[in-house]
Amino acid sequence: MSEYIATIGLEVHCELKTETKLFCSCRNVFGAAPNTNTCPVCAGHPGVLPVINRKAVEYTVRAGCAIGCEISRFSKWDRKNYFYPDLPKAWQTSQYDLPLCIGGSVTFDVNGEEKTVRLNRIHLEEDAGKLVHSGNCTTVDYNRCGVPLMECVTEPDMHSADEAVAFLEELASIFRYSGVSDCRMQEGSIRADVNLSLSRPGEPLGTRTETKNLNSFRSVRRAIEAEIKRQTEVLESGGKVVQETRHFDDNTGTGYGMRSKEDAQDYRYFPEPDLMPVVLSDADIERIKADLPELKRARRKRYVSELGLSDYDASQLTSEPEIADLFDGAVKAGANAKKAANYVMSEIMRKGKTAGEDGIAIGVTSVQLAELLSLVDKGEINLVSSRDVLDKMWLNPNESAAKAVDELGLRQNNDAGEIEKLVREIIAANPGPANDFRNGNEKVLSFFVGQLMKATKGKTNPKIAGELIRRLLSE
Ligand SMILES: [Zn+2]
Repeated sequence: MSEYIATIGLEVHCELKTETKLFCSCRNVFGAAPNTNTCPVCAGHPGVLPVINRKAVEYTVRAGCAIGCEISRFSKWDRKNYFYPDLPKAWQTSQYDLPLCIGGSVTFDVNGEEKTVRLNRIHLEEDAGKLVHSGNCTTVDYNRCGVPLMECVTEPDMHSADEAVAFLEELASIFRYSGVSDCRMQEGSIRADVNLSLSRPGEPLGTRTETKNLNSFRSVRRAIEAEIKRQTEVLESGGKVVQETRHFDDNTGTGYGMRSKEDAQDYRYFPEPDLMPVVLSDADIERIKADLPELKRARRKRYVSELGLSDYDASQLTSEPEIADLFDGAVKAGANAKKAANYVMSEIMRKGKTAGEDGIAIGVTSVQLAELLSLVDKGEINLVSSRDVLDKMWLNPNESAAKAVDELGLRQNNDAGEIEKLVREIIAANPGPANDFRNGNEKVLSFFVGQLMKATKGKTNPKIAGELIRRLLSE
């Protein structure tokens, strides 16, 4: 019996980081007290009229441009009707037959190979509210109602959990670099539905199931692996896979069927009568395209080919757009690429990682960083005291590195005569270790460097200090 091949397509929902919601002026923020960011429009009161958020349309077009979609000159809104307590209007305003973006593709690396997944479409719609279950009671929070949501539908081009997760990571990075979404999994701002079927090589695709609302890369991986295993067992025992919507329970690591799959007709889509279609000119689209920043993959390649960085360093520096922007800016401001790369990867990334959260918070500007690196380069401060300067500049974009160095009294002592006097005193005070060195024990050199650093509060140039101590000990 030949092995089954999995065929996987994804529907990725991604919240846009606009200031306000899609059809009203309520704030679009995460974590507010329940039902505080609501109004008659997003709470679905009768007789209210929605107004399209221009920025949300622009962000969706920008995302489409970033993955090479064809942008529709004319698209429209449709009502997707269903009843559920998280949707007070009882319809979701979405786009059915004329979405904003069509086609496109995402190329990424998976297990050392390049892979491309085609997109079918990206459309814009409103998010629903959130049901909060506790004990035997359920409450509903409508803050998320009406938050702009992009739905990206792929072609069934993936065949393993590895490919699906690598695709999602690349897609999230493209959206973060484009500035349209934070793609924070833990805040639910990116979620995925997995369509999966099995077939034998050369045979038509089997019946597919859809596992809904996976909200971490980890659960996407686990849900796919569990569903491949389940469908294989069904088929091998002579059964048939039923077309259905499934839910994956992260706690138990198993999926279960929820309902037989709805078809589009079950939603009774019809054109939204309260909203005008979206009409875009070539000039609109060109303007948005011209605004697109350089994306992760292109930057990573450039760091290797133009700046001579290693593959590893280039991928670290492009892990978050904030880091890549900081690094690029520092190099533009005159910093040496390799030194800036090392400093960003060690000091800045350590400091910028916020505990338990996705992403990174950068507290210095690229100009401050370039200035700091130049002071280290010129020997005015050493690497150890650069951390104190970094601390002082952090979250204070007006603080100059040179001023911070002076205020902290960290300017390095490069006066060889003065250092020599100190070293002679230290050697005289430690005759034992001095003799050890003369008898060939090189290790005690670091003891003397340490003593000198202590005496000068770390303000000695370590290079000058090391050479001088060695010379004076050998006299
Ligand atoms: Zn509202």
